[in-house]
Amino acid sequence: LLNSLSQCGIQTHLLKRLNMREQLIKKAEIIPIEFIVRNIATGSLSKRLGIAEGTVLNKPLLEYYLKNDELGDPIITKEHIYSFEWAAKKEIEIIDKMTLRINDLLQGIFRAVGIKLVDFKIEYGRVWNNSKGVNEIILADEISPDTCRLWDMKTDKKLDKDRFRKDLGNVIEA
Ligand code: UDP
Repeated sequence: LLNSLSQCGIQTHLLKRLNMREQLIKKAEIIPIEFIVRNIATGSLSKRLGIAEGTVLNKPLLEYYLKNDELGDPIITKEHIYSFEWAAKKEIEIIDKMTLRINDLLQGIFRAVGIKLVDFKIEYGRVWNNSKGVNEIILADEISPDTCRLWDMKTDKKLDKDRFRKDLGNVIEA
């Protein structure tokens, strides 16, 4: 997936796949925010706001969560991000655009194999680009059934980590 995204112009941390278990990646300074995109309501959105599970959203919904396990990764607004300088306004503008583009690309990739991309989480990092003399933002995360909700297009069967979180069985097949 990361290779497909980088072929479409998304800068990622992936340099090279070394073997089945290891990858060589660029060292990045991780921005302490989890960026979540939702196309269909479920999970914490449905729980928190009472939006019916499975509601198709008019347009992708972007949410921000602070990466802090002790606090349980609380949801935050852009104002919190700027106020506490977790990221600059310019960075968030770039990231918002990248995230929506990644959502479009991933939706297409999954749609082609009969899967709906319900929602996903993604993180970004800063890397110093010597030749340009600037900080660049790159995607610095995995994209997998551990970080995405994926439903079968026809049956809405869950094909992601919710299978074991909800004890639905058939984890390997999914
Ligand atoms: N997610 C993640 N890591 C987290 C929190 C969420 O990968 O620490 C992903 C999750 O897999 C789902 C999306 O972000 O695809 C939205 O998750 P949600 O807020 O509904 O929380 P959950 O119900 O998964 O706890």
